[in-house]
Amino acid sequence: MTTYREFHRRSIEQREAFWAEEAQRIHWHKPFARVLDYARPPFAKWFVGGETNLCHNALDRHLDARGEQAALVWISTEVDGRQTFTYRQLHAEVNRAAAMMRSLGVKRGDRVIIYMPMIPEACFAILACARIGAIHSVVFGGFAAASLAARIDDAKPSLMITADGGSRMGKPVLYKALVDESLKLAQHPPRKVLIFRRGLDANMPVVAGRDVDWKELAAQHQGASVPCAWLESNEPSYILYTSGTTGKPKGVQRDVGGYAVALASSMDRIFCGLPGETMFTTSDIGWVVGHSYIIYGPLLAGMTTIMYEGVPVRPDAGVWWKIVQDYKVSVMFSAPTAVRVLKKHDVAFLRKYDLSTLKHLFLAGEPLDEPTHRWVSDSLGRPVIDHYWQTETGWPLLSAHPGVEKTPLKMGSPSFPVYGYDVRLLHESTGKPVADGEKGVVTIAPPLPPGCMTTVWGDDERFVKTYFTDFKDQLVYSTFDWGIRDRDGYYFILGRTDDVINVAGHRLGTREIEEAVNMHPGIAECAVVGVADQLKGQLPMAFAVVKDPAAVASKEARMKLEGEVMQTVDKQLGAIGRPGRVFFVTLLPKTRSGKVLRRSIQALAEKRDPGDLTTIEDPGALEQIREALK
Ligand code: AMP
Repeated sequence: MTTYREFHRRSIEQREAFWAEEAQRIHWHKPFARVLDYARPPFAKWFVGGETNLCHNALDRHLDARGEQAALVWISTEVDGRQTFTYRQLHAEVNRAAAMMRSLGVKRGDRVIIYMPMIPEACFAILACARIGAIHSVVFGGFAAASLAARIDDAKPSLMITADGGSRMGKPVLYKALVDESLKLAQHPPRKVLIFRRGLDANMPVVAGRDVDWKELAAQHQGASVPCAWLESNEPSYILYTSGTTGKPKGVQRDVGGYAVALASSMDRIFCGLPGETMFTTSDIGWVVGHSYIIYGPLLAGMTTIMYEGVPVRPDAGVWWKIVQDYKVSVMFSAPTAVRVLKKHDVAFLRKYDLSTLKHLFLAGEPLDEPTHRWVSDSLGRPVIDHYWQTETGWPLLSAHPGVEKTPLKMGSPSFPVYGYDVRLLHESTGKPVADGEKGVVTIAPPLPPGCMTTVWGDDERFVKTYFTDFKDQLVYSTFDWGIRDRDGYYFILGRTDDVINVAGHRLGTREIEEAVNMHPGIAECAVVGVADQLKGQLPMAFAVVKDPAAVASKEARMKLEGEVMQTVDKQLGAIGRPGRVFFVTLLPKTRSGKVLRRSIQALAEKRDPGDLTTIEDPGALEQIREALK
């Protein structure tokens, strides 16, 4: 049996032969003439001259073997909805949506902005774009009008697709009204807006001549059949704007062939998802995880994919695990934040259901601290795999590869470089590789493997400047994350290079301090930020969520716990990492994708403006920080 090490080595040393083989996992309408064209570094073109189509590979290709198998299961605990679409039914829906788009003038290469809640029609729209060669750009439903307008102006779509509303924690969220607002701000509004009415906004305004009703148009295209557009492998499939950046949004552009191959390969080598099995990814279609592992990945693999509208604790903290039991989920993918939310509830919810079909739970998107990793592994009794990637890479960059070799897992580590990625840990100033046990910047020696971003939409120069100029004398892709590799070759991510803090000349990752704080048994999660300090340059400050609010009910109790947490940090990391203060809150300000808004916390702690808060999940969290700081 191939070991992971041999497998990875071959993917780098015999790059083209390796990927030529992996490319056989998908259908090519026309075979590629060259595996890789790297004549213009760092721009990599994969499977040059080959023609394929993501929608064909996700749907049409499976019709003979699994036409009657469930392809998409939609479950909403928000509106109490449930729908199942077989591959044949999903194929029909996507064909119809493609016909609808064409009737609205959408052509190959046109951009279509999808601003939709987690409903089946969003999946139809995405796959319909892929079918006709239109470039989708899904914008997460939580973005505010101005952010949406900025994305509209960058993508210049010919069509936008939305719904009247979504629902969050049982409260309606008005999508169409927000789209209207954004279109007033945008310089390049689309000609048409297609709206799926769910009955969540009785007063939804309609703009005559521009707004089109999904259901009315669908009725005109019943039974439509639209052929797949055969796209050259390097034509763009989609644009996805990266979250959390200030200024002009960056459109991560992806290709067709490389993406299809990377995903199909990862479904087998990393996620161990087999045709006929079920995958449940708890993300949102507005994020890269939703693109890769709610929509494309599982369908390319002939699996059933679950699309879930709701939160992990409603009606109770057992809701996801009941889904795993009822739908015999074999692959599950979620985020550490969700696990930390569950950690605040009775562990019985995780133990109540039969999870025997679940091969692995994969977690990604943010650092998975060791205590949380241990807690969820123990509570579920199933292997929990931390893996690390970015919107830019489109698929994992560091992970265990149970489909290649079952290597032991280390708590808090996303294991090893994924095949195809020539990962280097470089010293931040010398740019030289660091020794094992030393901290370095996680970089990738180009060419980037298939599946990764190919450029910034409309701005090649920005692609090079943003990602490839972190080190003066060498062309390497920077992830802007700190990492460390132990003697066994396991990687640990220590947080963003841009979140680093400097205490009395010592550089510290806030993530390291957070991990230490989280070691205290009374703490569910925390955020540590560096706050300007006259004496030491910066001082770490911790904002911690306690498991039991009674533990901080009085001033004495707070002081006692603060002292204990400091001692824990002293013990775990050394006094150098000890937070100057530990403040207690009941939740942290986060984006809807679960990223802690450290910069906003830091700004408040430094009495500055907290900045752009359009992606914040719950503004009340920031209020708590303000209160705590008083
Ligand atoms: P995004 O592109 O929004 O998904 O964010 C990517 C960033 O999230 C990475 O650069 C990391 O900082 C962080 N990240 C993602 N996965 C992990 C992980 N498994 N461990 C630590 N950090 C992660």
